[in-house]
Amino acid sequence: TAKEAGGRRYEFYFSSMKEQVSERLEMETSLHKALELGQFELFYQPKMDADGLQTFGFEALIRWYRPGRGYVPPDLFIPLAEETGVIQAIGDWVLRTACRQCVEWYKAGYPPAVVAVNVSPRQFEDPKFVEQVEAILEETGMRPEWLELEITESFLQRDRNVVIDMLKRLKDRGIRISIDDFGTGYSSLSLLKNLPIHAVKIDRTFIRHIDTDSKNASIVSAIMALAHSMNLRVVAEGVETEAEHRLLRKMHCDELQGYYFSAPLRAEEALPYLRLMRDPAGRKHRGAGDAA
Ligand code: C2E
Ligand code: MG
Ligand code: MG
Ligand code: MG
Repeated sequence: TAKEAGGRRYEFYFSSMKEQVSERLEMETSLHKALELGQFELFYQPKMDADGLQTFGFEALIRWYRPGRGYVPPDLFIPLAEETGVIQAIGDWVLRTACRQCVEWYKAGYPPAVVAVNVSPRQFEDPKFVEQVEAILEETGMRPEWLELEITESFLQRDRNVVIDMLKRLKDRGIRISIDDFGTGYSSLSLLKNLPIHAVKIDRTFIRHIDTDSKNASIVSAIMALAHSMNLRVVAEGVETEAEHRLLRKMHCDELQGYYFSAPLRAEEALPYLRLMRDPAGRKHRGAGDAA
């Protein structure tokens, strides 16, 4: 069901070693066909303001529905897609679908939402990546300021100058870049100094029990102080409880995301959150009230 797909309960994959090998081969073959069979879906998880009352935008999260087997979580098939090279095609589909959805919401009368798309390092290796993004913006009518790309620290293990150059080109276009799962990689905090980025997303392992885990609280406030001093926004991912929310608000976290506010949703389930968006132009929500 949608709840299971968006939430934490996925179909459980449990098998012996031998079964795992054939399972993997099977999955690899099916993954190649999944795009043309239309088996991918994008879910959207709201990102809220510190008070949890206004929506800033959404993170697009891919789901692979395999008939007869249920939803396969991205952590299981994205690495496989990266190894086999299908990630380029999947990444294009994700970007195109997210941009189309964002434009569709805007045309339905909602204020513009920022839609964040996860980009895997393999997509970035393609020297044509920036052109590809531009082509998709053009094709879908998406404004660059409405698009955010989430990248992980592992990007920077590659040729830094090449990566920084690509990030600059994206930023110059008006596209936002955020560092996902921040704090889990190998890079130090000084990483933030020279990167043309917009925000850091603190990994949910540091957000967990932040109200009672004083070490997590120290880590988060240190990251936050540093990021803010560099004029970067801070996003907390994996907020699950009211107590965690309360503390993050006190710490002046800019954006919050997690099951406490909402699981990832199908596009049509996201409408109540679109109604909570702040309209920067003070524009009336044309038709927004009856869009559902
Ligand atoms: P991520 O980008 O760090 O995404 C956040 C993950 O945390 C999502 O898992 C989301 O469903 C989950 N989450 C959200 N709120 C909570 C919470 O309160 N508690 C807990 N425990 N988890 C929460 P999901 O959707 O399974 O995605 C896992 C990872 O797969 C993502 O981590 C991202 O790295 C990757 N991924 C997802 N969609 C895409 C995609 O379209 N392209 C690429 N390249 N990677 C993707
Ligand atoms: Mg992400
Ligand atoms: Mg993340
Ligand atoms: Mg994560």
